[in-house]
Amino acid sequence: MSTEYLQTQLQYLKGVGPKRAADLQRVGLSTIEDLLYRFPLRYEDRGNLQPISSLKAGGEVAVAGRIQSSRLRTTRRPGFKIFEALIGDATGSIPAVWMNQSFLQDILRRDVHVVLFGPVEAHPRLQMINPDYEIVDGIDGDTGEADDSSTVHTGRIVPVYEKAGAMTPKMQRRLVFDVISRMPADLPDPFPEEVRRRLQLPDRRAALVETHFPRAGTPPDRLNSFRTPAQVRVIFEEFFLFQLGLMMRKRATLRESKPQTIHVDDRIRQSARAILPFKLTEGQRGALKEIVEDMQRETPMNRLLQGDVGAGKTIVALLAALVAMENGLQVAFMAPTEILAEQHFLSLRKLLEKSRFRVELLTGTTAGLRRRDLLARLSAGDIDLIVGTHALVQGKVNFHSLGLAIIDEQHRFGVVQRATLRAKGLMPDVLVMTATPIPRTLALTVYGDLDVSVIRDMPPGRRAILTTVKPESRRDDVYALVRGQLDAGRQAYVVYPLVEESEKVDLKAATEMADTLQEIFPEYRVALLHGRMKQDAKDRVMRAFASGEIHVLASTTVIEVGIDVPNASVMVIEHAERFGLSQLHQLRGRVGRGAHQSHCILLYQYPISKQGKARLQALTDTTNGFEIAERDLELRGPGDFFGTRQSGLPTLRTGDLLRDHSLMERARDEAARFLDEQTLTAPLVARMRAAWPHRFGLMEVG
Ligand code: ADP
Ligand code: MG
Repeated sequence: MSTEYLQTQLQYLKGVGPKRAADLQRVGLSTIEDLLYRFPLRYEDRGNLQPISSLKAGGEVAVAGRIQSSRLRTTRRPGFKIFEALIGDATGSIPAVWMNQSFLQDILRRDVHVVLFGPVEAHPRLQMINPDYEIVDGIDGDTGEADDSSTVHTGRIVPVYEKAGAMTPKMQRRLVFDVISRMPADLPDPFPEEVRRRLQLPDRRAALVETHFPRAGTPPDRLNSFRTPAQVRVIFEEFFLFQLGLMMRKRATLRESKPQTIHVDDRIRQSARAILPFKLTEGQRGALKEIVEDMQRETPMNRLLQGDVGAGKTIVALLAALVAMENGLQVAFMAPTEILAEQHFLSLRKLLEKSRFRVELLTGTTAGLRRRDLLARLSAGDIDLIVGTHALVQGKVNFHSLGLAIIDEQHRFGVVQRATLRAKGLMPDVLVMTATPIPRTLALTVYGDLDVSVIRDMPPGRRAILTTVKPESRRDDVYALVRGQLDAGRQAYVVYPLVEESEKVDLKAATEMADTLQEIFPEYRVALLHGRMKQDAKDRVMRAFASGEIHVLASTTVIEVGIDVPNASVMVIEHAERFGLSQLHQLRGRVGRGAHQSHCILLYQYPISKQGKARLQALTDTTNGFEIAERDLELRGPGDFFGTRQSGLPTLRTGDLLRDHSLMERARDEAARFLDEQTLTAPLVARMRAAWPHRFGLMEVG
C-alpha cells in the first residue's frame, strides 16, 4: 500500500485538477514518485528570522511578527492599488507593501501572525517590497520564532522548483509539502537496511523529506550544490538503477551464444597481410587484436572502436571483416549517409580486389531489378561483404549467414541496430566505430554496456593541420591563402553551418557563398553540396570533387564525417562560432589526409564573446580529439555535446553526469557487486525495469 502511494497519479490529488496535472505532466511529472524524485532548482534560507529593528536595505530577509495595521492605498495611476501592512515583533516594526493585490486586505488582517520573506528597500522609507507571506498559527512569544512545522513557504529553508505551466514554484512547494506530510511512515525502501548501512545512505523516506524540506541548520551551500546525505542518496538511487540496467543488459549478452564459430589460423593471417597496403600502427594492431579475440568467443561481440578522425579505423574494420569472410560468414558494413557508404564501397572493393570475396553496395537508391538481384544473391550467400546505409538491416533484407555487422560513425544507433538484428533472429558480432572521442567522464554512462577499443595514435607521416582563427574582416587574406593552394594543384573545402531551425536562410546563404566563391576564383570550378540535394546530384558533385574536376567544394556540414579526399589541403569554416568544438574538429579532419601541409581557417563573425573566441582558440592549441572533447563537454554540458536524446544518454532528474561523476562510478561498482553476489532484491529489479523506459527515456532492459 505504501508503494502504491508513490504511484498515485497527481491528477487525483486534492487541489491539482486536470489543468494543473497537465502542466505537470508536460514536464514529466505524473506521479507522486516523479514529484519527489526530482530536485528543486535551488533552496532559499528563509528560516533565519531577523529582528525587525536590525533590518537594513539590500538583500532578502525573513521576519516574523503580528500585523499591527493595514490599509489599501489608491495611487495617482488609475486602477493601481497598493496594499500596505505594518508588521511588528518584540524589537520594532516595518511596513510591507504589495502592488495590485487588493485581495490581501481580507487575508493579512490586523493581529494575524505572519512570516514574511522578501527584499528590504530604503526608499522612500525602509520597507519590504512584495514579500512572500505566510500566515502562521502562532509565534513563540519568547523567541519571536514561528512554529517550524506550521510554515511551508517562509520561516525555514524552502525549495524553489522550476515553474511548470501555470504551476508556480509556490504552488508546487505547497503540493510537495502536502504529499510529504501524507507519506506513509512505513514507506518501503528498495535498498535493504544492511546495504544502506554499508553505503552510509539515509533511508528513503527521510531522504525524500530532507531533499525537499531540509531541516533548519542544513548548510545552504551544501544544499545548493546537491551534496547533503539526503540528496546524495536520491542521486545514488537514480544512478544505481541506471547502471544496474546497463549491466544486466551487458550480462545478458554474455549469456548468449552465437550460432557461428570463428577461427583464426596462418592462412587467414597470410590473407590479411596480402591485402594490407601499409603497416598498421600500434593502436590499430591493439584494437584489431581485441576485436579478433572477441570474434573468436562464443558470445557475440559488442564492441566500440574509438579513434580520432584519420586514425585509420576503416582498415581495422576491414581486417575484422576479412576474418569473418574467411570463416565463410557474411559482413554488413553500414555508414550514416549514402555518400559515405559509396566511398567505403569503392575503397573496400579496391582493397579486396585481389581476394575472392564479392563486395556489393546496397543503398536506398538501389532500385528495381538491380535491387532484387542483390537481395537474392545476399540471401543465397553469393555476396560476402555488403556495404550500405542503416537501411541494410531494416526491411526485407535477408542474409545467408551474417557473421559481423560494422556500423560506422553512428555510435548512437548501435544499440537499436543490434536489437533490430536480434529481432530477425540474427546474432552477428557487432562493431561500432566512432570518431567522436567520448570523454572519460561520459564513457561509463554512454557505453557502459559496450567493450571499448581505442586507437590513440595516428598513421605516420601526417603533418599537423595548421589552424588559425580569423575575423570575417580578414576574408581577403583567407582567399589569398586558398588561391595559393589551388595554384599549387590542391583543392579546398568551404563549409557553411546549417542548422535545422534556420535551414532556409542558411541554405540560401550557402548558395550565395558558392556563387561568390566562383566569382573570386573564376579560373577554378566551384560546386555546392548540401543535404537537401537529390542523392544522385550529391553523388555527382562528390565524385567530381574526389576526382579533382571540382576544385572548391562549398558545402554545408554534410561532409562532416568520413569523406576522404587526400588532395584537399585547405578548409575554411564560415561562422565557426556557431559550431561545437568537437564538430569543428571532425570537419577539420577532412583535410590533412594527404602528404601536403594542410590548413584550416576558422572564420568568425561579430558579435563574439571573449569566451567564444577563446573556445575557438583552443582548436589551434591541440589536434588531440580527446582533449578537445573534454573541453567541449566542460563548455557545453553533456546534452549539447551529443546533440540529442539519441545519444544513449539517460535523461536524469537528480544526477548530473559531470557534477556527480564519482557517484556514478560508485553506483556502477555497487551494481556489479549486487550482480556478482546475487543480492538483488525483487523491488530493486522492479524499480529498475520501470525506471528505464519511464525515467531514463531509454529502451527497456531485457
Ligand atoms: P578514420 O579513422 O577517420 O575512419 P580512415 O580509416 O579513413 O580514418 O583512414 C584515414 C587515412 O589513413 C586513409 O587514407 C587510410 O588509407 C590511411 N591509413 C590508415 N591506416 C594507415 C597506416 N597504418 N599507415 C598509413 N596510412 C594509413
Ligand atoms: Mg572513417
